[in-house]
Amino acid sequence: MLDNLIRTAPTDVVEVGCLVAGEWLAGGTRAERIGPWARRAVSTARQADGGDVRAALAYARGGAKAVARMSPAARAGVLERAAATALERREELARLLALELGKPLKDGLGEIDRVADTFAVCAAEARRIGGEVLPVAGWARGVGNTAFTHRAPVGVALAITPFNAPANLLAHKLAAAFAAGNTTIVKPPPQGPASSAGVVALLLDAGMPAEAVQLLHGDGRVGAELCAAPEVGVISFTGSVATGAAVARAAGAKRLVMELGGNAATIVCEDADVGAAARICARTGYSNSGQSCISVQRVYVHRDRYEEFLDAFTGEVERLAVGDPLDPATDVGSMVDDDAAERVVMWVDEAVAAGARVTTGGQRDGATVTPTVVASPPAQARLVRDEVFGAAVSVLPYDDFQGVLTTCNDSRYGLQAGLFTYDVRRVVTAWRELEVGGLVVNGSSNFRLDHVPFGGVKDSGFGRESPRWMIDDYTVVKTLMLRGM
Ligand code: NAD
Repeated sequence: MLDNLIRTAPTDVVEVGCLVAGEWLAGGTRAERIGPWARRAVSTARQADGGDVRAALAYARGGAKAVARMSPAARAGVLERAAATALERREELARLLALELGKPLKDGLGEIDRVADTFAVCAAEARRIGGEVLPVAGWARGVGNTAFTHRAPVGVALAITPFNAPANLLAHKLAAAFAAGNTTIVKPPPQGPASSAGVVALLLDAGMPAEAVQLLHGDGRVGAELCAAPEVGVISFTGSVATGAAVARAAGAKRLVMELGGNAATIVCEDADVGAAARICARTGYSNSGQSCISVQRVYVHRDRYEEFLDAFTGEVERLAVGDPLDPATDVGSMVDDDAAERVVMWVDEAVAAGARVTTGGQRDGATVTPTVVASPPAQARLVRDEVFGAAVSVLPYDDFQGVLTTCNDSRYGLQAGLFTYDVRRVVTAWRELEVGGLVVNGSSNFRLDHVPFGGVKDSGFGRESPRWMIDDYTVVKTLMLRGM
């Protein structure tokens, strides 16, 4: 299956179908994906029409019971085989990410390694799903009864994924739903149809039954139609806040998991190892051209170390290799499209007009933004307040620790933060007071392990996307009460 999807010759256009009721449907209305670096068609995908959507929903409803009846051992086996194949085929899959999205091979290989981890963690979780024997006899009315719970699958899951990590985010949603015994309809991003189909193919080749997964390409209209469908029991959405709000409106009373945007802050205290902080922030502020929900966007540095950090950081950023995403040496490829790159440069220019200083970068060539460092933009600049999702990092001075926590919290977002310090009091204070889903100490905001809970507060959403927590979202607690026993 994977072989049919992936053609490795550099000039080939990868043709992807919709997967409905166990069949890859070719033909139909197709959308071409123009690679943002290659500037040529790299893939073409069938766009799901109304008939595809209806057929997928009917098949999902009919197939849900078959998936639920599969043993956890069988589900875990599929996921483990897929994890092994992901590692064997990592180069081909990373190539698709590079071609469709301009993601450097380095980042793409890292993403596929994480797909393998995600499958392996989901396999382990599939084996652990259980229930409880409840101590009911502690209450007079409970004496003489026995109660149990177990976790039953919701049935039909809908997974909607964004463009920036289409392989691993799809893996998280689909593998956790399957581990819990659900069937899933996937609506991948229009910018990464082949990268997404590759992950689905890994699972099918490993023995995932046709009933467990369907894939419908298309734009937001396909997503909206699926969100409103009564057959769907749970929606796991990752994307922007605006789209998340539209999903919630269409979903009505359905169960939702929302993983939305961010403008992550990293704090560098006066006792920090400034050299290490500069190196780590440079690496994690520009990977995938800054297109990560936890990418380092705002770095707050204690005023005593501000100039030292700015110099070291600028030097590290200037050493990043910008170029062809297919070159294994490249650190920064292109953004998802020219419009995204244009927007980032516009926001940088706005900040400069308001008094900020660019110490390196600030130019655009097609969809590539040269890694940009912006010193001291005003707090009201879009570069600081909104989600940049691009290769521009702001560096701002601060004077007092309590004050910088307040500044970090003065945001509609709250996904993850970084803190460089060796002072345990500051660590605990920041952990308690920062309005985020997670804090990384002596690392930047942009670090994630796939088995550790990850998600946001405020407008960044309310899911915790890691297999163990996702399985809670993908299951319902079902009680069995035995009277007189
Ligand atoms: P997006 O919101 O534009 O699109 C996400 C997905 O939603 C796509 O598949 C899109 O086709 C679909 N969609 C669009 N309109 C829809 C509708 N009305 N109903 C249903 N589906 C619809 O996001 P994007 O530009 O692809 O991704 C970037 C965003 O994702 C950023 O804001 C980023 O922070 C966020 N993100 C968050 C996390 C996280 O874990 N919190 C991870 C990665 C990305």
